[in-house]
Amino acid sequence: MSKEYDVIIMGGGPSGFIAAIAAGRAGVRTLLVDKNGFLGGAPTSAALGPISPFHFGDEQVVKGIPQEFIDRMVEYGASTGHMKTLYEHGSGSYSCFYDRERYKWIAYEMVKEAGVDVLFHSFFNRTIVEGNRVTGINVVNKSGENILKAKIVVDATGDGDVAEKAGAEFTFGRMKDGKTQPATLMFEMGNVNTEKLYQFMLENPDEFEWKSDFVPVRKFSDKLSKKYFVAQGFNRFVREAINKEELYIGRDSILLLNSIHPGIIHFNSTRVVNIDATDGDGRTKAEIDGRRQVESIVKFMTKYVPGFENAFLSVTGNEIGVRETRHIIGNYVLTADDVTNGRKQEDVIARGYFPIDVHNMVGREGYGQSDDAGVWTDLKDSYDIPYRALIPTGVDGLVIAGRCISATSEAHGSFRTQGGVMAIGQAAGSAAALSVLNNVHPRDLDVEKLQEYLIENRASLRRDPIAVENEKWKALQSVKNFLADNPNNITSSVFQG
Ligand SMILES: Cc1cc2nc3c(=O)[nH]c(=O)nc-3n(C[C@H](O)[C@H](O)[C@H](O)COP(=O)(O)OP(=O)(O)OC[C@H]3O[C@@H](n4cnc5c(N)ncnc54)[C@H](O)[C@@H]3O)c2cc1C
Repeated sequence: MSKEYDVIIMGGGPSGFIAAIAAGRAGVRTLLVDKNGFLGGAPTSAALGPISPFHFGDEQVVKGIPQEFIDRMVEYGASTGHMKTLYEHGSGSYSCFYDRERYKWIAYEMVKEAGVDVLFHSFFNRTIVEGNRVTGINVVNKSGENILKAKIVVDATGDGDVAEKAGAEFTFGRMKDGKTQPATLMFEMGNVNTEKLYQFMLENPDEFEWKSDFVPVRKFSDKLSKKYFVAQGFNRFVREAINKEELYIGRDSILLLNSIHPGIIHFNSTRVVNIDATDGDGRTKAEIDGRRQVESIVKFMTKYVPGFENAFLSVTGNEIGVRETRHIIGNYVLTADDVTNGRKQEDVIARGYFPIDVHNMVGREGYGQSDDAGVWTDLKDSYDIPYRALIPTGVDGLVIAGRCISATSEAHGSFRTQGGVMAIGQAAGSAAALSVLNNVHPRDLDVEKLQEYLIENRASLRRDPIAVENEKWKALQSVKNFLADNPNNITSSVFQG
């Protein structure tokens, strides 16, 4: 099979499906390809928990198509929208709880409305390159090999597969030893007595490294109204079970959250380190190790933790969640210094906001002081993601979207959350479409025109001080109301404990 498009987006994760909507709406013939039979990437296929903030503090810095997607989920009763986290360390300033199954459909619906063609169950095989220009991709599916030609390809595979096969340069993991953030097989347990669990958290603050309630700030479906919480800890139980060799786990604590569905608890609690997720064997080993940990943690929870006595394993990710692999080298490499100091860039196409969150790459310990401990670094300000970081050096016809844009491992630890990669996706899809419409290479695209186009489409490229004041005021009132209605909450007990 051979087909021709203006723009092909390889990968239907949060960066890819948003890029596809942007390209389709700009009026170019667009194809979105994925190996799965649904959209959403890691959030849906790896069964992730809530969407991390679109905010720096109370300032919303990701808007545009990503916010339209959240609004649509809220409208369909499939999400709480952004809720304010009372204690930010570990989760960020806001979280958006959503129904993973509805996410898959709503993403598809918006992609189709943008006039985009979709090809599922198609694995990227190789990049078609003429000279130094990408002119298409070869994917394999039940029909065999497919040649898909395009004027511009957007690599939204997360791993930079298209760029790598085009010969683009990349770094892998962190600079000093090439290690990457760990992979996690997410899972959920059903029939949990969440009231009992919450009561345990209230009464045992010393058992936790951190925990938080979430405060509603905007209106969402009454059906989803309840206490939302996150907690990391259960340290005494974990220590005891590890000592008795009853628990096989890659971490020294359990990280869990509740969900929009009753009695469901989500676990971000397995950890697989020292794997190369771009290697077939490495990925297989990770899946098996992750599943072994799930099996053990489920037994542990039902035996040790109040509220889980009658619970069962209800969901595991279709695949292990891979946080980090390649970083494609582009015309600008975003660094930790740029991120932590809130550096502004002339060619800003999206804004970053999330603290640098690097999970322990080699061992069990959480955030801490040792060389290998995980890192959580708050930012001085929101920072700009430059267009140059989306353009690979030495390769034309290609735009990078998502977690593999040009950055160091540390900087990636910040923009990798969903809001960050969705905002990058809108910019990447718009840049690809504008390059086709103006008949230029993406590297030669007039960035000011791209910025104007993004702003017209409600992307946030700079601070709006009046909106920030309003957002802060609204958040403060919401917190006051929450505390008045919920004097017994797990967050206050963190400060007391
Ligand atoms: C364990 C884990 C926990 C996380 N927790 C959070 C969180 O709490 N909050 C938050 O906001 N973010 C979280 N993230 C981060 C966020 O989900 C990812 O960084 C984000 O999904 C990256 O988006 P992406 O579009 O770049 O790539 P992905 O989401 O990885 O999407 C890539 C897409 O490309 C497809 N693809 C890849 N390779 C091929 C190929 N060779 N052939 C065909 N298709 C291919 C995949 O099927 C997938 O659909 C977490 C990530 C992980 C892994």
